[in-house]
Amino acid sequence: MPINKFAYICSPVCIVMKIKDLKFKKYIKEASILEKIAELAEQINKDYKGKDPIFLPILNGSFLFAADLMREIKIPCRVSFVKIASYEGTSSTGTLKTLIGMQESIFNKDLIIIEDIIDTGTTIEQVVNEMKERGAKTVEVVSLLRKEKAKEKNIIPKYLCFDIPDAFVLGYGLDYDGYGRNLRDIYQVAE
Ligand code: 5GP
Repeated sequence: MPINKFAYICSPVCIVMKIKDLKFKKYIKEASILEKIAELAEQINKDYKGKDPIFLPILNGSFLFAADLMREIKIPCRVSFVKIASYEGTSSTGTLKTLIGMQESIFNKDLIIIEDIIDTGTTIEQVVNEMKERGAKTVEVVSLLRKEKAKEKNIIPKYLCFDIPDAFVLGYGLDYDGYGRNLRDIYQVAE
């Protein structure tokens, strides 16, 4: 990869970095993320005791979050990774999204969708509705991040790590044009 595409400006602590045309500053440290995940997992372990939930991490953005969360889940459960395919609708509803990769029946199951970030909330609303239409018994959402816009629209995931402002973020699974998913911390656009 060309060096100017991805450069640590304040190496080695990596407080600010440049990815392609944008600068990002460190925003949420890995330790804070893991602490919050442990809290949420404890709550999920309590809420789903005696149930047999299926976790549905939505790829690609949630892969690190899902991995860390699932290591803290102590109850019997299954994990099924899914991906969202977007296509342009022919009606005025605009871009429609559907889930691909679901291997098993979710009929009458307790589902927990694992999402990386809720921005406008459109994606998660569509996924939740699709799961309900497919006959899930219950559908809840655990999200790493929620932006201001979704908060204002009163989109409330049952389990949430952090509320953040409407600025672009990357790292810890989230990307900018494919880059940055491998970063351990979350970074926010600096300009
Ligand atoms: P929504 O449908 O809620 O508007 O958008 C959710 C999706 O948009 C997320 O799953 C994610 O893929 C993408 N997204 C929204 N905001 C950000 C952001 O700040 N950073 C990154 N990397 N992706 C985002």
